[in-house]
Amino acid sequence: MSYQREIIYGGVRVRVYGGIDEIGGNCVVIEEGERKVVFDNGIRFSIIRKFYGGRIEPFGPFELRSVGAIPPLDAFEEASAVYVSHFHLDHVGLLSMVPLQPVIKVPSVSILEKTLARWYKASSSWLAYVPPDFSSKIGEVEPWKEDENKVVPVPVSHSCYPAYSFLYVGESATIFYSGDLRFEPLSFIRFRLSEALERVGVDRVDVAILEGTNFSEDYASVTASTFRNYLSMLLKEYDLVSISIDPLDLETFIAILDLSQIMEKNLVIGSSRLTWIIEEVEKLRPEVLDKIYFCDELEISPTLLIRSISLSHEVIKNPDNFLLIVEPVEILSLLRKLKMWGELQSLAGSIVVLTDPEPRETVKEVEEKVLKTWLKSFGMQIVRLRLSGHYLPHEFRSIIGTLKPKELLPIHTEEADLMRKLFRRFSRESKK
Ligand SMILES: [Zn+2]
Repeated sequence: MSYQREIIYGGVRVRVYGGIDEIGGNCVVIEEGERKVVFDNGIRFSIIRKFYGGRIEPFGPFELRSVGAIPPLDAFEEASAVYVSHFHLDHVGLLSMVPLQPVIKVPSVSILEKTLARWYKASSSWLAYVPPDFSSKIGEVEPWKEDENKVVPVPVSHSCYPAYSFLYVGESATIFYSGDLRFEPLSFIRFRLSEALERVGVDRVDVAILEGTNFSEDYASVTASTFRNYLSMLLKEYDLVSISIDPLDLETFIAILDLSQIMEKNLVIGSSRLTWIIEEVEKLRPEVLDKIYFCDELEISPTLLIRSISLSHEVIKNPDNFLLIVEPVEILSLLRKLKMWGELQSLAGSIVVLTDPEPRETVKEVEEKVLKTWLKSFGMQIVRLRLSGHYLPHEFRSIIGTLKPKELLPIHTEEADLMRKLFRRFSRESKK
């Protein structure tokens, strides 16, 4: 028995292979009659952190499976499809390790190719197994529509784009699987859950498999409006404002882009991992493409839709005109090179905002202390801002009110008991 939990509702069996009493590593299997589908194929970082650290690295994906860091093979046996809710590693996992028989349905094939596949294909570590095997059957989820497995992909807001919740509309039960879910979208390229469910015509579900990441956080996250207010204040008071974001977070990118227009700043992209976003911006905000630039120093091919600009000759010399959007590793190596070449003047009066999306849900690519030491050595100030991709605990009541589940299965949380207690209370209240 390698699953963590099983519940039976009507003729539907739900087995969870990862994500119970832990943040991330989701893998949920739904079975009804002959039908079997899998939601997410996550890497369990709680296990990775226990077994590996420093020079003790995984030998490879087979060892990761043997220690339980990726889902066991029986999760996929006889399954017709594996649905990936979004491209964070604790959900997408190692696609090369999914057996060949089920089709892998991803939120976007082209975004997968331009992001994770490109970033990790040549990786010298186990992350090289993130892109799907070339012989895997890859499909794309079709939003809003019930598919051949009775699954309806529901677009939702999260710090990774595009993200989905899934509804399984079975013969004997309707099951909602949240994936990762933000309540209040950061920009209006995504719906609120209530609007999305209305659109698919679902008023209530039988079982909600619901994430609860933020129940165990002891510091406050900013909301969409506080984020905008705070960033506007920084843009008024500081010279150059740089902001680092999760390179998969299109919602935050668009929110920052919109703000940069209001504040009359040009947006400069300082990381090659953010290049995929330009094609999405072309679809969503074509009118502002001429206000976005790429850092010249990144040496990105000129076939892109936007112009480039020199960080050392223009941006740093006229810091008031720009807002720099980055992903920490690359911008740091750029600044270090400029310093080495003697092209970096003091950046006193500038600030770097490190948005800190989901620290426990991924591999740590940046040693934050080291990053801070470097940025400080250039004269920059640093602030951390927690901008969560998950709903905040006070929004739980509304989510329960929207889904009206008969049963709750908390996932992706360390506070399942608290969620169950609150769920019972909110359900009672709504019946009164
Ligand atoms: Zn996520």
